[in-house]
Amino acid sequence: MSETTPTMRSVQITPPAKLTGLQLHALPGKAAGLNAVTISLQHVAHEMGLWKGLQVLAKLNQRDGFDCPGCAWPEPAHRSKMGEYCENGAKAVAEEATNFKCDPEFFQKHSVEEMSRWSDYEIGKSGRVTHPMYLAAGSSHYEPIDWEKVYAMIADELKQCAPNEAVFYTSGRTSNEAAFLYQLMVRNYGTNNLPDCSNMCHESSGVGLGETIGIGKGTVTLEDIYDAEVVLVIGQNPGTNHPRMLSALQKCKHRGGKVVHINPLPEAGTTKFVDPQSPVEVLKGGTKIADYFLQVKIGGDIALLKLLMYELMKAEQREPGSVFDHYFIHAQTTGYDDFLEELKKLDRTQALLDCGIEESLIIEVGHLLAKHKRIISCWAMGLTQHKHAVNNIREVVNLHLLRGAVGIKGAGLCPVRGHSNVQGDRTMGIYEKPKPEFLDSLDKHFSIQSPREHGYDTVEAIEAMHHGKVKVFIAMGGNFISATPDSEFTGKAMQRCGLTVQISTKLNRAHLVTGERALILPCLGRTERDVQLSGEQFVTVENSMGVVSRSRGTFEPASPHLRSEPAIVCELASALFGAAQPMDWLEARDNYDVIRNHIEAVIPGFDRYNDRVRQPDGFYLPNGPRQGKFTTASGKALFTYNPLPDIRIKEGRLVMMTIRSHDQYNTTIYGLDDRYRGIKNERRVVLMHADDMRAMHLKERELVNLVGEFNGVIRRAEQFHVLPFSIPRGCCATYFPETNCLVPIDSYADRSKTPVSKFIEISIEKR
Ligand code: SF4
Repeated sequence: MSETTPTMRSVQITPPAKLTGLQLHALPGKAAGLNAVTISLQHVAHEMGLWKGLQVLAKLNQRDGFDCPGCAWPEPAHRSKMGEYCENGAKAVAEEATNFKCDPEFFQKHSVEEMSRWSDYEIGKSGRVTHPMYLAAGSSHYEPIDWEKVYAMIADELKQCAPNEAVFYTSGRTSNEAAFLYQLMVRNYGTNNLPDCSNMCHESSGVGLGETIGIGKGTVTLEDIYDAEVVLVIGQNPGTNHPRMLSALQKCKHRGGKVVHINPLPEAGTTKFVDPQSPVEVLKGGTKIADYFLQVKIGGDIALLKLLMYELMKAEQREPGSVFDHYFIHAQTTGYDDFLEELKKLDRTQALLDCGIEESLIIEVGHLLAKHKRIISCWAMGLTQHKHAVNNIREVVNLHLLRGAVGIKGAGLCPVRGHSNVQGDRTMGIYEKPKPEFLDSLDKHFSIQSPREHGYDTVEAIEAMHHGKVKVFIAMGGNFISATPDSEFTGKAMQRCGLTVQISTKLNRAHLVTGERALILPCLGRTERDVQLSGEQFVTVENSMGVVSRSRGTFEPASPHLRSEPAIVCELASALFGAAQPMDWLEARDNYDVIRNHIEAVIPGFDRYNDRVRQPDGFYLPNGPRQGKFTTASGKALFTYNPLPDIRIKEGRLVMMTIRSHDQYNTTIYGLDDRYRGIKNERRVVLMHADDMRAMHLKERELVNLVGEFNGVIRRAEQFHVLPFSIPRGCCATYFPETNCLVPIDSYADRSKTPVSKFIEISIEKR
């Protein structure tokens, strides 16, 4: 196929390289505090007005309210009436409940070409989509369309293509109810093409944990964090991405726990946290969170983890039986002897070079881990978006198995999920490689025949689109164009689809970089009242620690034309299969208890779903490893051998990782500041070590281009200010989505296919 087809609109795929006026400020050295409250309120006041904003915030993460559309951090048993949310939660809600609207008049005024030349920040600030909108072939403007025509058009299109020519994407916002219905519709249609945002973030955690402990989820509860003696926070920036985790770490510290932060960048949140709800904390200036900061080189985590385990081994050799939990190892694991033999052969010199950390500091942290058994490891994208990401996770598991630190109070594994129901969607069957047991149960309950052939994950879906194999693309939430790697490649791939459909709350770039024809289906947000025929409804979500709870919006929807996600799926499925095939879709639309009854019948762990989820704090899903029962084929946890990866790059180049600013959540850009890193009013920056800048004759603020080369393909991102920052030599950091264009589509993690957004080899080009 040629590079472009005549029907492609000339839209801007990669965010335009516009500068906004960089300002630099001193690093605050601490997170949250009263400043965070002020800034939250400013956002809320700007988007919804202060009065409405305060009313909405009063319901955020409360038992009778709605679940935060931000991250998946759990709620504590005691919920503060002053507010159970963080700055980013407040900003997420302000974005969703904004008074700004993209109504038909707005779409009449602005063509998709024009809007695509706006930055993602400007696009996002346009507001809520109020009507179903249609972009006809060859047209530059969306026009309103009524819901019945929408369903008929999609159903017709799906009927005309083979099931594998359609892709059904899901983002982590989708509720359990909508996700369950969606995967049922897709499987009854005949495909497992169900890629999701997990493919791009914690897929490596799911694969690594699944292989070693038998479940692709974490094993700890919130109480475990409070009770831990040591918490390792690896490749994660909780101050920006999961801010209320800082309260949990603070509690742990107050009980005598120690926190070790392992990351290429120091982060304000792990330096010091000021709880704005505690006058004492505010007065004393907060709590120091990280007792140790291990500034690991990008890609050096396996080396570091091996060196720490080597220290454990030395301590065990000095005093046999004092460090390794031999009873646990013998009774509950396999592969220990081989693992230990390999550990003994570790090339420590190479490992020290790879991780870039002082040996004395590694010895000190090794002692800490040898002394305490209640160890928790928390991690995020810093571990999962590497070529060797699955092995990163397996090394974390090895460390825990040596100490017997899984399935006991105050210890365990904690992948911290980045979107509010990303874990729940997987539990509901949003997965391109479903387990046979899941499909058997689904088929039995609904008397259907689900396909057994695996579907496309996100990278495969993009590649299939690029090869013209996808005719229909439907996204349940998300901003596919800005969340995915290799922006130009992905955008062109999307443009080769016949019909692209986005079920969305707000305008984003995926509405502008579309197939030949496109639809926007506006849906209710978390804050909004959902009334169906049987009355007011609630939906349910699963947090990062496997708790399923209710979310009920209570505010007036942004427009009377919005429909809920479950209703949209039911109405579409009804148009596609008829109202009674393979279930009564309209009955499910009218009463979400019906959906939950189906979930209970299909998925283990949801007994008495409708009753238990009405309990104030919901319920925990079963988790074998949490109870010390590993659900692998052998029934034992697995030690694994993971070689030191080769992380060398060409002379004169840097390893780039993409990061978020403090004013963004995933692809949603709330503002242009990154307060905790002292950066204001600019996102086109590259953070570098001052010595690398000197070696490359670069001055602070100088404008450069970033150039990547992978498998013979050159990728370029233009106009970035160079800034000196505390980061290991040879490494640099930039914000996504601006630099997603440098993440090659064919650079992904072994076995999980998570794009390698944290290890991109680039050179700096002077302008
Ligand atoms: S920590 Fe996460 S879930 Fe909690 S309020 Fe903040 S963004 Fe929302």
